Amino acid sequence: MIIAIDGPAASGKGTIARRLARHFQLPHLDTGLLYRATARVMLDHGQRLEDADRAVAAARGLALTDFDEERLRGAQMGEAASIVAAIPQVRAVLLDLQRRFASRPEGAVLDGRDIGTVICPDAPVKLFVTASPETRAQRRALELRSRGEDVDYADVLSDIRRRDERDSARSSAPLVAAPDAVLLDTSELDIEGAVRAAVAIAERAKATSA
Ligand code: C5P
Repeated sequence: MIIAIDGPAASGKGTIARRLARHFQLPHLDTGLLYRATARVMLDHGQRLEDADRAVAAARGLALTDFDEERLRGAQMGEAASIVAAIPQVRAVLLDLQRRFASRPEGAVLDGRDIGTVICPDAPVKLFVTASPETRAQRRALELRSRGEDVDYADVLSDIRRRDERDSARSSAPLVAAPDAVLLDTSELDIEGAVRAAVAIAERAKATSA
């Protein structure tokens, strides 16, 4: 069974994806890491993030050593990732990798921005996880502070709004809910509540698709 989870930054989709993977005993891929790692390689080489040729080369050449999560999870890398993610050729390079991951016989959980629309349009379970920008900024500020980053709520909120705008406005695989995705608004939910709701949605979808 493939579970496709999409949504904007800090909506809770990552936590929900990990918990669904554990619940259904499926492998999980956080696809944002692919774009973050591509951006990281470019920044390490002093390259312009808008340079499509170099971005494609960075995406093609990704190695396991580029996936040092500690560095990839920082605020700067999220912003940088959304710049390289707007380049269609970069998305094309990373598409195969994601589809291969999703084609395991047992299925998989993937989370990102275009999983239900582009990567796995036939997934039997699709969730679009969202929350208000203010709630997401509060969560992200807490998370970044717990990682030792000295961030200001207002800056995090404006980063989130800018990233939403860039991810939603791009021409290639924009952030949008698939027509058959179930919407899960986590604004008023804590983690456990959001996970419970997601498990219930996935169990229902699994039962109807069986
Ligand atoms: O999910 P995360 O915040 O790690 O994603 C970082 C950026 O990578 C997003 O803002 C988005 O621009 C890009 N991304 C994407 N498609 C995906 C996953 C992430 O465009 N499937």
